[in-house]
Amino acid sequence: PFDFQGKHVTVAGLGVSGVPAAKVLHGLGASVTVVNDGADERARAQAADLEALGITVRLGDGDTLPEGSELIVTAPGWKPDKPLFAAAEQAGVPVWGDVELAWRLRGPDAADWLAVTGTNGKTTTVQMLASILKAAGLRTAAVGNIGVSLLDAVLGEERYDVLAVELSSYQLHWAPSLRAHSAAVLNLAPDHLDWHGSMEAYAADKGRIYEGNRVACVYNVADKATEDLVREADVEEGCRAVGFTLGTPGPSQLGVVEGLLVDRAFVEDRHKNAQELAEAGDVNPPAPHNIANALAAAALARAYGVPARAVRDGLRAFTPDAHRIAHVADVDGVAYVDDSKATNTHAAEASLAAYEPIVWIAGGLAKGATFDELVAKSAKRLRGAVLIGADRALIREALARHAPQVPVVDLDRTDTGAMRAAVQEAHGLARSGDTVLLAPACASMDMFADYNKRGEAFADAVRELGSADG
Ligand code: ADP
Repeated sequence: PFDFQGKHVTVAGLGVSGVPAAKVLHGLGASVTVVNDGADERARAQAADLEALGITVRLGDGDTLPEGSELIVTAPGWKPDKPLFAAAEQAGVPVWGDVELAWRLRGPDAADWLAVTGTNGKTTTVQMLASILKAAGLRTAAVGNIGVSLLDAVLGEERYDVLAVELSSYQLHWAPSLRAHSAAVLNLAPDHLDWHGSMEAYAADKGRIYEGNRVACVYNVADKATEDLVREADVEEGCRAVGFTLGTPGPSQLGVVEGLLVDRAFVEDRHKNAQELAEAGDVNPPAPHNIANALAAAALARAYGVPARAVRDGLRAFTPDAHRIAHVADVDGVAYVDDSKATNTHAAEASLAAYEPIVWIAGGLAKGATFDELVAKSAKRLRGAVLIGADRALIREALARHAPQVPVVDLDRTDTGAMRAAVQEAHGLARSGDTVLLAPACASMDMFADYNKRGEAFADAVRELGSADG
């Protein structure tokens, strides 16, 4: 591992990654200065906590490179075009993200990483993968957004054979030396373009996950952009491209045949050309996009040498996290479904494809997205739409263009109470047999702390509706 003793390290950004990173670096003997843009109450409390340990903190000054800095460890969300990074480049100071830091701190007998990225399905796939690896008797954890943090996985007491690691495009941007055992890009659709600057830059950052892979680069057959990234990657000799598809798999692919998940890439018996893994019904929920996630998880597990039986057992043992296509309640014959985690159009498209007819609740922060394609593809399934949040006009205009017959209620609200009103409006539009689907296609931060809070507000409003009716 890297020697930090006496090194002058700048940590860019307090918060979920910065505070633990500063503490770890300080513990390793580095001389740490934290720089942070804001200076609100939370930042001041975190700063006081770090200063008590002997760490220097500069609040309200996130763009000045401290004198003598030899390395910047940045919060993954900091935009590459920030002046701090221009200053670092000028001074020849390297910049690492939280993933790069964890990667460099791994011990000599460190666990292998099976890495997953993509616009949607990362958390679900990583959790399915961890469940499969556990079913094979391996010591493992789901690492990333949910579950164990990267630094804890690398430096904690717990010993692991292999880690199932979720990586965002931001994290990959700042992780130049990461080399996974095998990795998957699940899909590529426009998201976070305001951060990356362009679709090309976003794809290039996602593609970094394949660099240096040893055993398999797993791609989505239905999403050619993911296959292109494999072709462009510089991998170890012998590393294979392995596709997953919802259709019949070709050679070196996993896919679905007559309701069975089938592997034609890692076949145990040399006399067979396909290995049966599981039934589609073993996947929870068995929606098409989720079967794709299961196939990607299976491909990575099989690349690691896991037997077919563990794939089935692991998928059966898996239950999805909250706010991901969660059925909340039925009221007056109408199903209410919470997919608050559909924070972009690509995710919302997957859940809108799973129901019909739908009263759609949508809106929030668009993050630079456009809604024409989503609305055009989903128009015939819509009974109505209820719009909330800052960027709702973009969705309203797309509905007017591609679904003029669909009744739309524009609530013109961004307060937290708007969700309650939205559910009541949706209730008014829905008929027995319909689904009221919260699939906002937008981020939540204009109205809620996060997508969890947004989903909880929806579920609360639905329960209120149920009790008022009953
Ligand atoms: P991530 O960690 O990438 O945000 P999650 O597993 O948390 O992904 O799922 C987020 C949302 O994306 C889900 O609520 C669902 O709407 C949608 N989704 C999940 N898997 C896929 C997929 N393979 N393709 C498209 N949308 C998906």
